[in-house]
Amino acid sequence: MSYEGVIEQSAAGLKELMESGEEIIGYIYPHVPLELFMAHGFTPSLIRALPGVSSGYEESLQTFACSYIRNLYSQRANGQFLTLAGLLFPGNTCDALQNLGDVWRVRFHDDRVLRLTYPVTRYSQDESTTNFLAEEIRLLSETLSRTYNRPFLTESYDGAIELVQDFRNSAQFLYSARVVNPKIISYSNVIRLVRTFLTVPTTSSVSEIKEAATEVRTTADELGLLSIIESVRHAILEGDYSKVKLPEDIETPRIAIAGGMVEPQAITSLINGIPDFSESAIAIDLLSFGFKSVFTKPPSKSDDHFLEMAKSVLTAPGEPTHEGLSYRMNAMKGLLANFSIHGLIVCEQSFCDPDQFEAPSIEKAACELDVKTIRVPLDPELSDRGRIETRIQSFLETLE
Ligand code: SF4
Repeated sequence: MSYEGVIEQSAAGLKELMESGEEIIGYIYPHVPLELFMAHGFTPSLIRALPGVSSGYEESLQTFACSYIRNLYSQRANGQFLTLAGLLFPGNTCDALQNLGDVWRVRFHDDRVLRLTYPVTRYSQDESTTNFLAEEIRLLSETLSRTYNRPFLTESYDGAIELVQDFRNSAQFLYSARVVNPKIISYSNVIRLVRTFLTVPTTSSVSEIKEAATEVRTTADELGLLSIIESVRHAILEGDYSKVKLPEDIETPRIAIAGGMVEPQAITSLINGIPDFSESAIAIDLLSFGFKSVFTKPPSKSDDHFLEMAKSVLTAPGEPTHEGLSYRMNAMKGLLANFSIHGLIVCEQSFCDPDQFEAPSIEKAACELDVKTIRVPLDPELSDRGRIETRIQSFLETLE
């Protein structure tokens, strides 16, 4: 399915849900406690930048605006947004989102703007940061109860934990299966299923990804790959690669995609557009809307729901707001070295300060392992597509 087709499919699913009377809370930064919204009777939906949105300089946005938030702002200013019960902005993640939330509140004053503020980066299992986020989540819960008159229901919360974890179990299995054999299921199919869930997290989107995982499990069993796949999944979750031994006949070159709020579908669309290469070269991505969302751990069941949700959110791997730079780089090196990655495409959202801050460290870490890298600036409209494809093509040729 094309990039545009995937977007249309998930937008149609969301529209259908709204027409059935569901109330949607949109969120932009992907690491939110999904279970909280579901416990209050809302459906959380990840709102994303879209290609084909004209997002030139907008009069209300200043130089802090990256291409991603310009796109979101333009969607709203052009009347392309669905009617949401509320829109959650993060605090303390990046200046662009911090400011966008403030501008949004003033410019679109009929919209209900919510905020969840994240702690500063933690360097270890520091309880003060977890407690800070737990308190923020509790305050958000109170706001939801008060503003919408929808209390937190423990039964709905328990159901939400299971739903989200069912999704993550299947998605983690598919990601791990592709590390072992990238042809076992296409990357575009996996990220389509992930996108569908993040846009419309319902039992039907979970069933779809579960079915795909069951099919892949059957194939992997026939190929004798199941135990290797499980060892890969365990390694990613625990950061311990001692039991990972990939098959000796894996196809090369193998690449990984690093970056933050970059659309995984845009990457496949670019790579599939290059003659003689296909997305089967992608062994894994490390993106916010893919890997980092998929490998987050679930909240444990305990009486302190807010604390458990905070702990869960902070397990999203590789997020700058959650982990210190040296920790992130070491974790990435473990993954590159043990998953036989030859090349790393470092994607940077245009004018994104966090991406530009991170990219030199990623290059340095990869260089220490002799993994070749290329930095690719992108915007949601892929406005420089021809030149980017040529650069990626040359890079892939050097890996061969
Ligand atoms: S792309 Fe970068 S600057 Fe833009 S919202 Fe995301 S993290 Fe912030």
